[in-house]
Amino acid sequence: MDFLFVFFLGSIFGSFLNVCIYRLPENLSLVKPGSFCPSCKNPVRAWQNVPIFSYVFLKGKCGNCGSRISAQYPIVELISGLITVLTYYYFGLTPVFFVYTVFIYFLIVIAFIDYKTELIYNKVLITLLVFGLIFNVFYPFMAWEAGLYGLLAGGGILFLFSLLGKILFKKEALGMGDVKLAAVAGFFLGMQNVLIAIYFGFIIALVTMVVLRIFKKAELKGKIPLGPFLAAGLIVFLFWGKLIINVYFSYVLG
Ligand SMILES: [Zn+2]
Repeated sequence: MDFLFVFFLGSIFGSFLNVCIYRLPENLSLVKPGSFCPSCKNPVRAWQNVPIFSYVFLKGKCGNCGSRISAQYPIVELISGLITVLTYYYFGLTPVFFVYTVFIYFLIVIAFIDYKTELIYNKVLITLLVFGLIFNVFYPFMAWEAGLYGLLAGGGILFLFSLLGKILFKKEALGMGDVKLAAVAGFFLGMQNVLIAIYFGFIIALVTMVVLRIFKKAELKGKIPLGPFLAAGLIVFLFWGKLIINVYFSYVLG
């Protein structure tokens, strides 16, 4: 399969992820009606719905009413296209490719909804876990015991952090949504891997905070959702975890 084709396919799924990101918090159906402009409510025609290209072609405006369309749409389509190319590149056309591509699609939806609403929805997490459980019956990618330990370790460590945060900062530093996300991710990755992925997530969060601080763009007073960083840590781990660990150990211990 050609990588360009895989990219295009991924970006079409990204289009659907955009629908999920927009509609899940509003409790709207994901299938009916078809895509519509949030501003004028006119249906989006097929030629206006080509991932990335339509946004560029229409200069980021609705084809009917001309109101601005959020840059989130092409960004999610682009990320989804790239991610699908990466999972295809690293896992080939295997059941593991399928399970981790879907896993990351869920992470994209969770990250963007968390960024916008500061909430991680149970219905999304439960759907993801159920998908993993059912998939594991037919195409085992994770020993049941290892999955359970991963779930307990991922959820457990963030639960500890949230307790610690409450004691140290006397406020909710870490939401239960993050705890549940780490638990579900633990089932997909296993104990050791999920802990490293969470560590990656914290590093990415820290680096981002420092960079934002330097450029004085962040209002660090408000609560910063951890979900997008956890998702980023998990994705980085899936693709480059082993590589990073090898490089790290060969430099530190080698
Ligand atoms: Zn419109």
